[in-house]
Amino acid sequence: MKVAVIGIGYVGLVSGTCFAEWGNEVVCVDKHAEKILGLQQGKLPIYEPGLDELVERNYAEGRLSFTSDIAKAVKDAVAVFVAVGTPPRPGRGDADLSFVYMAAREIAPLLAENAVVVVKSTVPVGTGDAVEKIIATKRRRGTFSVASNPEFLREGVAIGDFLKPDRVVIGVADERAREVLMEIYGAPLAKVDAPIVVVQRRTSELIKYASNAFLATKITFINELADLCEQVGSDVGELALGVGLDKRIGTSFLNAGPGYGGSCFPKDTLALLRTAQDHGVALRIVQEAVSVNEARKRKMALKVIDAVGGDVDGLTIAVLGLTFKPDTDDMREAPSVPLIETLQRFGAVVRAHDPVGMDNAAQLLENVELLEDPYECAREADAVVIVTEWNSIQHLDLVRLRRMMRSPILVDLRGAFKAGRAEAAGFYVCAVGRPATRPVKLAPDLFDTRYRLPGANAPSGRGILGGRYDH
Ligand code: NAD
Repeated sequence: MKVAVIGIGYVGLVSGTCFAEWGNEVVCVDKHAEKILGLQQGKLPIYEPGLDELVERNYAEGRLSFTSDIAKAVKDAVAVFVAVGTPPRPGRGDADLSFVYMAAREIAPLLAENAVVVVKSTVPVGTGDAVEKIIATKRRRGTFSVASNPEFLREGVAIGDFLKPDRVVIGVADERAREVLMEIYGAPLAKVDAPIVVVQRRTSELIKYASNAFLATKITFINELADLCEQVGSDVGELALGVGLDKRIGTSFLNAGPGYGGSCFPKDTLALLRTAQDHGVALRIVQEAVSVNEARKRKMALKVIDAVGGDVDGLTIAVLGLTFKPDTDDMREAPSVPLIETLQRFGAVVRAHDPVGMDNAAQLLENVELLEDPYECAREADAVVIVTEWNSIQHLDLVRLRRMMRSPILVDLRGAFKAGRAEAAGFYVCAVGRPATRPVKLAPDLFDTRYRLPGANAPSGRGILGGRYDH
């Protein structure tokens, strides 16, 4: 089938490539001319394990091509997937749909007869209706369909997730859209025994937000229990295993850490809250998860301050791992950024290392020396902080790392090292979810008066969106 994919980011490039892998003829289009030029020369705009090989093969075999000419991509396509970004609108929290609507306006006059426009971007409920209206207004004649097909892939394991998903969700308003999407997904998913859930378009849009809000809540739940573990002498890793092996709960998304980040959970939870607020519905659990997570990201700096004895002013802190999770170069909403900014405000000199994300990190961080070598990063440091559990970081020679440092303090925000391993290498360890290996002074809340940051407003823990949730 001839397929067009609009927007070649993490989702568009993986989806387009996998559609080609399934035998479709795929043309990917992006506004970013440099991305297209790079792809035509075999240079990928993102880091995603295994993707380069898949792109190269499908490109070489002629099933996958890249263009910045939207007309060329769309004119014969039976299905046109829209995979553009839907970032949060600054200060408001709802999804910025301008890229989606712009794409709809651009493709409207170009669509082939009976083409199916499939919104793959994460969009608030009702966006499919708006896209349909835009296209109908611009197009004037000819039939088309609009469907929803939210994407659930995880960066870092995106190809596996796409080719062998837990499920694919399809939201349709007519039979033509259902037929076309079943033709694309039916056979490949039957081979891997993955279910296709066909629902109404509005339900499909909401499923994506409900999934992400549930996962964000699950992470926040285990993070709060990690705090309790630290105080009562338990280990959150063991706790998560004992709890998660209950099939009703499941072991995934029970890894305690510095708070969820990334391009999806923070923005999607906020957008869901905004939708609920607009419709007069209170989603108090999600609201609380968002508040707790925001506070937690900054609170992690206190853990570091505690670990070094209560004051980081003038100390050198080495941060290992910057991306929001391993195996991606994505720095969007990474917990490393507020952590580093907070440490800097308290006077720390911060050095950092990440195996893949340093180019993107350099655009977000100021006055941070970025080092290719993790051991050099730790040279003369007063503490090392593990923020992202990259495999290469988990396999560091801890004795060598400790020898580079001025004082042997390790703050493990990801449970990257099993209990006892870093201690055996001579570190004092302060980890998320288990008691520190030396007594640390219990810090007050980051936002109490003693620790209030210059210029920072103390969040109330409520009212992220303002308005009626405030009470
Ligand atoms: P991204 O920012 O990496 O990529 C979006 C791309 O769209 C950019 O390359 C941009 O240049 C291009 N673009 C924007 N407007 C365009 C237009 N009119 N024509 C052509 N190209 C255009 O975004 P992403 O991370 O791939 O996310 C895309 C959508 O998928 C979002 O709604 C996101 O919430 C959702 N999603 C993302 C992930 C993820 O892990 N990144 C997972 C599931 C769902």
